[in-house]
Amino acid sequence: MTERDPQTRAVHPPVPVPAGSRPLGVPIYQGHLFGFESADALAAAFQGPDEAFFYSRMGNPTVRALEEALADLEGGARALATASGMGAINAVLTGLLRSGDHVIAQASLYGGTHALLNDLADRWGVEVTRVGGDDPAEVRDALRPHTRLLYLETISNPTTHVTDVPALTAALAGSGVLTAVDNTFSPLLFAPLAHGADIVLHSTTKYIGGHGDILGGAAVFADAAVHRRVWEHSVELGSTADPFAAWLAVRGLATLPMRIARQSATARDLAGRLAAHPSVTRVHYPGVPDHPQHDLAERLLPYGHGGVLSFELAGGRDAGRVFTEAVRLISLGPSLGDVASLVMHPASTSHRQLDAAALAAAGIGEGTVRLSVGLEAPDDLWADIEEALAKAV
Ligand SMILES: *Cc1c(COP(=O)(O)O)cnc(C)c1O
Repeated sequence: MTERDPQTRAVHPPVPVPAGSRPLGVPIYQGHLFGFESADALAAAFQGPDEAFFYSRMGNPTVRALEEALADLEGGARALATASGMGAINAVLTGLLRSGDHVIAQASLYGGTHALLNDLADRWGVEVTRVGGDDPAEVRDALRPHTRLLYLETISNPTTHVTDVPALTAALAGSGVLTAVDNTFSPLLFAPLAHGADIVLHSTTKYIGGHGDILGGAAVFADAAVHRRVWEHSVELGSTADPFAAWLAVRGLATLPMRIARQSATARDLAGRLAAHPSVTRVHYPGVPDHPQHDLAERLLPYGHGGVLSFELAGGRDAGRVFTEAVRLISLGPSLGDVASLVMHPASTSHRQLDAAALAAAGIGEGTVRLSVGLEAPDDLWADIEEALAKAV
């Protein structure tokens, strides 16, 4: 056989398949396509997510590693990893709902989810009833013949409201309504599927990735048939996770238990110090005894209450803004769950569209500051907070 031209050989380098050993870490399969020996084998691959990998929008070994890890950790049958948390939420909502369906949703939800539900109501004819998240009777009363989904968040932002997931799912037992729970604030701390939920959602951008270097999301399903419906829809949406981002999320999982435990402990410590400070009128953290759902939080989240807390400054709106600009070690930024601590003033940023009455209804004060606690030494964080508090009064 004649030697092929270097131009051809450059396009077809050898692809070694390890023999005699195996990689101990998850390899990054960055390529989006896979080759086959026969046309029949390729045809079979088109049949669904359990067949051979063939094109990464439908499935990829690195993305699958993340999906299997999350399905295992959440106690689910299957998982779907997506390009962002909103990608997972969108795949689930638009994959399972149709015009005329009814959703019961917690009133206080992540802003993007809130906007998506409004959009589904305005443009797609999905009916949405908002409930508080504390009262099973309110959920039972909201049930209609065409209700398909109950949508909750374990811990909501920035008030750290803890939702009674087992009581609310029990209120709909036997109705056939699926419950989806956004567990972004409490991965490993709470397992919604063990408490009656059917679908768990994560923004892996936050605690699971943990290092501020990816966007990603995932949905974990108790029932493989529900996964299959959402998987088919996600293939149409194109909301699939990128392999490298999925790989970083898998790597993040290895240190998640230690990070979330440390972040929870530091948040508890700072919540106590903040509560005793004269410039702070109120602290919201499920781990402090005067939190409205403290007992529920102790029962549902025995290993810690997460790394997000918020507190209200006596000086109101101006004090909130000045505080978030005065911190030096802590960064002013919108995300959470990072190894580095972050603060934000919701009234002037994430919740700026709400007027005073709407803010009050959402339980957010003009001077509320949200703090996402990182892995810094607690005393260094407190020194930064104390200095910024002195400037903010
Ligand atoms: C950030 C976040 C999302 C959205 O995740 P993205 O990865 O930014 O798309 C959804 N839910 C909660 C609770 C979040 O904090």
